[in-house]
Amino acid sequence: MKMRQMATDNPLRVLYLTSEVSPLLKVGGLGDVAGALPKALRLLGVDISIVIPWSPRVKFVLQPWEETVGEFTLVHTFLPDSEVPVILLKHPSLLETTPAAYARIAMSIVELKENGQLPFDLFHGNDWFAASTIELLSRKSIPTLLTIHNLSYHPKLLQAAIQRATMLTTVSPTYADEIRTETRHDLIGILNGIDTDVWNPLTDLLIPTQYGVENWSVGKQKNKEALVNQLNLAEPTIPLLAFIGRLDTQQKGVNKIIEILPLLLAESNVVILGTGADELERVLQKLGQQNPEHLSVNLRFDEKLAHQIYASADMMLIPSSFEPCGLVQMISMRYGTIPVAHAVGGLKDTIRDHETGSLYQEDTSSALNTAIEEALKVYQSDRWATMVMTAMQEDFSWKKSAKAYQQLYASMMSYAAGRSE
Ligand code: ADP
Repeated sequence: MKMRQMATDNPLRVLYLTSEVSPLLKVGGLGDVAGALPKALRLLGVDISIVIPWSPRVKFVLQPWEETVGEFTLVHTFLPDSEVPVILLKHPSLLETTPAAYARIAMSIVELKENGQLPFDLFHGNDWFAASTIELLSRKSIPTLLTIHNLSYHPKLLQAAIQRATMLTTVSPTYADEIRTETRHDLIGILNGIDTDVWNPLTDLLIPTQYGVENWSVGKQKNKEALVNQLNLAEPTIPLLAFIGRLDTQQKGVNKIIEILPLLLAESNVVILGTGADELERVLQKLGQQNPEHLSVNLRFDEKLAHQIYASADMMLIPSSFEPCGLVQMISMRYGTIPVAHAVGGLKDTIRDHETGSLYQEDTSSALNTAIEEALKVYQSDRWATMVMTAMQEDFSWKKSAKAYQQLYASMMSYAAGRSE
């Protein structure tokens, strides 16, 4: 087993820069991606290492070891259950995730590469904070891949890197189509996956009752009863609708749920887990106090509660105005929680309408409400079980997409070799 994980002879050495990596530090979807894609690439024989800035919030699973290099401390560890090295750059100036900090990281990566302490052949950076590194490395003719997880984060900072990167990818084919004209005509969309070891209802120790496709109905009902009890809600027999995600005003669309909440609460329980804009948090908090029996509002980042919700809810509401890929819908389906989602970006690419979830077209609260009402009708019918079981068996693992990245790396290397001849 171990041998297969070892990089093969003369493996391609890739340096992967991210701002978060699960389970060491997770803020959102990028954390999940960075915690899973490098593992899948390593299994394919790519010699990939992860670099992230150190922060006091990092939770080490394995004992790290430190090394001083100039003014930096390099903190070394591995991704749990893998041979993927993680290098945390520690320096007081890197404690903030600001453009200045990332410009500094860019310089230190180049320095560490040039003095042989961080050897790599290809650089793979994520989002705006990789922009300076890509600009610097591309001037030195080192192949660079930029993956855009969300074009709306600091688009100005990204522009130069978008043009300079050897290749540009984003996280779903549909989002690639949506942003191609704003970026580059050769932008490629490679769908994100999820870590199917972490997100597995059969083995998940953060949920009270484990379950699989055969006993999903009993398993989910037990988890639902436990959660409804824990959150002090009433009636564990009525449908449980959920929302997990950032409470923002641009993307995730929780305001559309707020607009139709009175309608939803008439026949369902609703649980919300998220943090974000003060105004949305205040409104939700108040609504929660007004409807204590049927609405549970949880304004925090809580990994365990997230697992419990995935394992308990009947439907996941995903009214995003835009969604580069989205992991919430994939995790939901794996746990037999049917996504009701706006048909954009990665939501469109991962949910099969009427088969594994429900997709609606118009970005409005009334379209969301109609989709929920229709899904509630299916929930009362025999078709629901088929839908849940189909959703649970979809393949959202990284296997296929990791291969696509590997092939892309290889083509970038042969292009670079061709140019230097
Ligand atoms: P984003 O655009 O925020 O990256 P994704 O759907 O790609 O959205 O990924 C979100 C990830 O973060 C999922 O793993 C989801 O379960 C998790 N998540 C989001 N908000 C919370 C929260 N408040 N508590 C726990 N997990 C959360």
